[in-house]
Amino acid sequence: MSDHGAEGGAARSARVGQVKDITSLSNPLIKDIRALAMKKHRDETRTFLAEGLKLVIDAIDLGWSIRTLIYAKAQRGKEAVEKIAALTIARGGLVLEVSDKVLTAITRRDNPQAVIAVFEQQLMKLDAVRMKPDDTWVALDRVRDPGNLGTIIRTADAAGAAGVMLIGDTVDPFSTETVRATMGSIFAVPLVRTSEKDFLVWSGKAAPLLVGSHLKGSVDYRSIGYKGRPVVLLMGNEQAGLPDTLASACGKLARIPQSGRADSLNLAIATGIMLFEARRHLLDLGDTTP
Ligand code: SAM
Repeated sequence: MSDHGAEGGAARSARVGQVKDITSLSNPLIKDIRALAMKKHRDETRTFLAEGLKLVIDAIDLGWSIRTLIYAKAQRGKEAVEKIAALTIARGGLVLEVSDKVLTAITRRDNPQAVIAVFEQQLMKLDAVRMKPDDTWVALDRVRDPGNLGTIIRTADAAGAAGVMLIGDTVDPFSTETVRATMGSIFAVPLVRTSEKDFLVWSGKAAPLLVGSHLKGSVDYRSIGYKGRPVVLLMGNEQAGLPDTLASACGKLARIPQSGRADSLNLAIATGIMLFEARRHLLDLGDTTP
């Protein structure tokens, strides 16, 4: 937590009374938070839920705004939690101290995280994307599986990708399942939502090296010159793969050679393989001398 360092006792006592103590599941604030399990409610409020103290601290450090901080009673007085609570209040957010029963109901888990938070959603506009040499974006066509999407966002983060574009009718990146699978990378990786049409117009203008990952690709994914140029790795839908409309726009159609009986790789695995190859020249272990 870089921007909210040590907090004095005065500030701590100033917010006594600003923290709401809630034990009832019928409390309207809790009802609203529980409704975030539904996409409709997330879309309407442009918010989402994330779980875990570390994740909440990371999010704040990366500039995300907490609308509501929720923590278990047993967390009261813990320094890190007190600091986040103070910061949330200072920025106009709500702080709720709740019973275990309420936390379990919000997270739908038997052993819930003791700290969770409602954040404002952030999406980047496609027009705002400016690609630099060696930037790698992942573009996903109609990704359907929340776990796949979360894993891809986490992998994009680990590989140092510039961001992830979601094309067409995709699963919600802010669903609880996706957010959980990102393990916090949801806060670190810029996300863009776009239609297929707008993506094609943009890629025509921005002119990155558009590499389609395709089961019928004629090029070995390891033979492509990714170095020194902006690259977009375009991945197909879990069931249908890449449609011709997108495949025909690609500068290269790459295939990951397979042996064995599997028809194809899982989308998240294929994305990981493509990403780490495209960024291989930029990734090293650094100085490993003892
Ligand atoms: N039945 C689909 C098809 O015919 O394309 C399979 C889709 S696969 C589960 C999901 C996506 O992962 C593909 O569209 C492609 O982008 C990528 N993928 C999976 N295996 C791949 C491989 N061996 N080479 C290149 N891309 C692959």
